[in-house]
Amino acid sequence: MEKWDGNEGTSAFHMPEWMIQFADQKQEFNKRPTKIGRRSLSRSISQSSTDSYSSAASYTDSSDDETSPRDKQQKNSKGSSDFCVKNIKQAEFGRREIEIAEQEMPALMALRKRAQGEKPLAGAKIVGCTHITAQTAVLMETLGALGAQCRWAACNIYSTLNEVAAALAESGFPVFAWKGESEDDFWWCIDRCVNVEGWQPNMILDDGGDLTHWIYKKYPNMFKKIKGIVEESVTGVHRLYQLSKAGKLCVPAMNVNDSVTKQKFDNLYCCRESILDGLKRTTDMMFGGKQVVVCGYGEVGKGCCAALKAMGSVVYVTEIDPICALQACMDGFRLVKLNEVIRQVDIVITCTGNKNVVTREHLDRMKNSCIVCNMGHSNTEIDVASLRTPELTWERVRSQVDHVIWPDGKRIVLLAEGRLLNLSCSTVPTFVLSITATTQALALIELYNAPEGRYKQDVYLLPKKMDEYVASLHLPTFDAHLTELTDEQAKYLGLNKNGPFKPNYYRY
Ligand code: NAD
Repeated sequence: MEKWDGNEGTSAFHMPEWMIQFADQKQEFNKRPTKIGRRSLSRSISQSSTDSYSSAASYTDSSDDETSPRDKQQKNSKGSSDFCVKNIKQAEFGRREIEIAEQEMPALMALRKRAQGEKPLAGAKIVGCTHITAQTAVLMETLGALGAQCRWAACNIYSTLNEVAAALAESGFPVFAWKGESEDDFWWCIDRCVNVEGWQPNMILDDGGDLTHWIYKKYPNMFKKIKGIVEESVTGVHRLYQLSKAGKLCVPAMNVNDSVTKQKFDNLYCCRESILDGLKRTTDMMFGGKQVVVCGYGEVGKGCCAALKAMGSVVYVTEIDPICALQACMDGFRLVKLNEVIRQVDIVITCTGNKNVVTREHLDRMKNSCIVCNMGHSNTEIDVASLRTPELTWERVRSQVDHVIWPDGKRIVLLAEGRLLNLSCSTVPTFVLSITATTQALALIELYNAPEGRYKQDVYLLPKKMDEYVASLHLPTFDAHLTELTDEQAKYLGLNKNGPFKPNYYRY
């Protein structure tokens, strides 16, 4: 049997032959799925466990059931009560959601199928804390199929899809999560995942760092058995780097947030789609001919500009960095200062990761009905606080849509109170989450199988070869045919025929 750990140095993951072959083959998953996972909920950048979070309506409305899941006695059909979900009877609905998500998560389904005999996670005991959605359910069930035992809690008190949690519990996963947990419930659920008789985790999959933090605080001895942490979010990764800097990180950790494939999908491709989705759902607007200013021409800004340009909008860009500014010019956008266009634009979109990019002065000068929204960092980019003054009237016209009205009757349309528009007002495509979930699965496999000494007590990026592998696993979906290097070409470029194909400093 091929091993998962043969490696030519720390950055070159040697994949089993069948994985390499498999990535090149046309799979049965290469057909374009006909059903699209419509209700994808999860998001890969978790700011905190209490960030507000958009969530599609449940099929089965259990809002009238006020009893806390903690006070309920529930069993699944096999008699197990090792879980805590809103209502186990909703499992069938959740199963349907999971099946829909599977259609757009080809790489995980492929991994599942190919690793059936091999079980690279045999013996792994993974404790996870992520959004609990149909997409994470596909990940969890894949980890199970690869041999792992999992216990799971939610990383966000609002984001759990109760039906999916029920479906997971029904199929034997100890899941402790429901939508609308209290702060106390949140920590209780995490504790139920780790504080178990006769079971100790040896791997952590975290989104936001709360689970890792809890184990550090309450059960530091557990780290003796833990082989590694895989962290998904910006916040969690930041916390890990801080621990590492302070010399307090006691196991290797993998930062999957900064994998190239994931970054491209989260920032560029996802925002290219979700900017239109978020604007449409909230305002029903038509984009053709509208004047839009996009602040910041990084990955997110590029995605937003490309989508709006394609819709026939007239797009202006603001930038502070001459390189990105030049890129905007070369892509055919007018580079301006915000002040120059603020009076004429119909839409203002911030994507800078900066603060106070749109100030009260800008807001005062906008024309009537100007739409203002943010696709960048948290809620700092638009100075929303400056609009909370007595002379301005706020009118909530729809969920996530406020009209802010000036004394002369002018109103601006503020979306999601300046929080990330797409996270608050639209859904994230399952295919984007498939990239993230596959990256997480491979990071877990890598850390779990790495020979002693390959990873120290530090934070690592996923080896580039695995990043490439994540991408290759998604190619069959498009019936895409990758060109193989000839021996002569490989020698000429100084590359291994199976990758990695680019140096770490390469900018995609
Ligand atoms: P980036 O660094 O590639 O781009 C940001 C750009 O904004 C840079 O080019 C920078 O020069 C420019 N900028 C900074 N201050 C500015 C200012 N005052 N005026 C004009 N331009 C300015 O980052 P990115 O990957 O594009 O991400 C941008 C933000 O979006 C980050 O905060 C990131 O966390 C967030 N993000 C959002 C989503 C989402 O789904 N909405 C997804 C990924 C990332």
